[in-house]
Amino acid sequence: MVQTYKHEPFTDFSQETNKTDYLTGLKTVKAYLGQDYDLVIGGERISTEDKIISYNPANKEEVIGRVSKADRELAEKAMKAADEAFTTWKKVKAEVRADVLFKAAAIIRRRKHEFSALLTKEAGKPWNEADADTAEAIDFMEFYARQMLLLKDGVPVQSRPNEDNRYDYIPLGVGIIISPWNFPFAIMAGTTVAAIVTGNTVLLKPASTTPVVAAKFVEVMEEAGLPKGVLNFVPGSGAEVGDYLVDHPRTRFVSFTGSREVGTRIFERASKVNEGQIWLKRVIAEMGGKDTIVVDKEADLELAAQSIVKSAFSFSGQKCSACSRAVIVEDVYDQVLNRAVELTKELTVGNPEDKNNFTGPVIDQNAFKKIIEYIEIGKEEGRLMVGGEGDDSTGYFVKPTIIADLEPKARLMQEEIFGPVVAFSKAKDFDQAIEIANNTDYGLTGAVITSNRTNMEKAREDFHVGNLYFNRGCTGAIVGYQPFGGFNMSGTDSKAGGPDYLVLHMQGKTTSEMY
Ligand code: NAD
Repeated sequence: MVQTYKHEPFTDFSQETNKTDYLTGLKTVKAYLGQDYDLVIGGERISTEDKIISYNPANKEEVIGRVSKADRELAEKAMKAADEAFTTWKKVKAEVRADVLFKAAAIIRRRKHEFSALLTKEAGKPWNEADADTAEAIDFMEFYARQMLLLKDGVPVQSRPNEDNRYDYIPLGVGIIISPWNFPFAIMAGTTVAAIVTGNTVLLKPASTTPVVAAKFVEVMEEAGLPKGVLNFVPGSGAEVGDYLVDHPRTRFVSFTGSREVGTRIFERASKVNEGQIWLKRVIAEMGGKDTIVVDKEADLELAAQSIVKSAFSFSGQKCSACSRAVIVEDVYDQVLNRAVELTKELTVGNPEDKNNFTGPVIDQNAFKKIIEYIEIGKEEGRLMVGGEGDDSTGYFVKPTIIADLEPKARLMQEEIFGPVVAFSKAKDFDQAIEIANNTDYGLTGAVITSNRTNMEKAREDFHVGNLYFNRGCTGAIVGYQPFGGFNMSGTDSKAGGPDYLVLHMQGKTTSEMY
């Protein structure tokens, strides 16, 4: 009997046994560093000459693994394998598909700290952040498996006398899953299993900076009994393999999570009907954010400063939900800003393998360069309060940075930086604060710190973001509790971990019989 869904608890690392388990996980990962990983196409393992090399962003010398790289020919082979597997997988009972997810979740739970340790090595995640990423991957499997069981017999519709009407959901076909590096386990696995449990077959193209955790996940799915060809593993260049697969006439849908730039490109390309294509492709795109915490004058100001600092700087601000703007009513602006600066000065940056470091590196040289450039822009546009520098000699470390006194339309207030940089801006009152909060192209997350119920209700209606939080930070959505996804240029309004997410991977079929 399937138990009621509950999210995977986070590990308490103040407990010695948990600390020891994590260190054991790190040892396990160290033992397999530098290994080669193959493509998986129709169950066949294929090794290529050309490899994606995954490095530890905290220690540029350390190779995490070498992953075979698909080209167009191999992408085509994978498409054929997925197309063929679809003819049988779509007929497999929903309960059986759900069981694969339940078993995969159990395998990952058993190897939880190994997976988290791999995320520490490959993505530079501090212990607690890596633990949350693994927990979320487990949650997606547990949650989507149960959601599929709810949908397996369709949903009721009306029937008249002597008539039997049914409304069932059937899968779409072959899906292309394109995932980002910042939740290299949770989002990669979540988007993949949502497509699979609904009866589709997929080609998984993980981010090039974090392909090893994806290769390990593919092994888990095989161990859980997933038939050959349902999940095909095709790491490769976004431009070469990505475009080819998005354009492919047999592609039925694309599930993408990543930047606005790539997401809009995919959206545009997928809208073109290519030779031999007999459907309009569906695109699920989860894109960037420019997320704001608003602080009212009637508010717990300590909570405000803590929430801003934690949401802005945990995992070095590399979350689509990260707080990158703090908009504060003028009466309390200086107080919140000064306290946030004080708290930020206490944060330690360094190798995330050391549990005492609050945050680790940013993902790679490109990210490092981009963030440092934005800090320079910030120094011109506003007032540097703390941080403002980086060190890329051993890894890509950037100090948590606060830039104050920004105009609402400043570049630092508008463009996604995706690093440990938060912009502070002053509003004359709460209404203006909400106006500023809404003034970007995005609409992903936001938070409001207030003790004024009228203002809270105003924000509930007017603050146009997919995930709005009150009196807490703006990161950390939990699968099944806070369905996640944004408005406007943050994506296609889908909600990962929500009650209507799976339906995006299916089509409704009506049947009607006369008795
Ligand atoms: P990215 O857009 O650079 O890459 C995402 C994926 O797209 C990678 O696998 C990449 O290889 C692939 N890609 C690149 N070019 C492609 C092309 N032409 N065709 C097909 N695929 C292509 O993003 P990233 O740097 O990996 O991730 C960070 C971004 O993701 C940020 O903007 C962040 O806000 C966003 N994000 C959004 C959410 C959300 O739920 N809304 C969650 C996580 C991350």
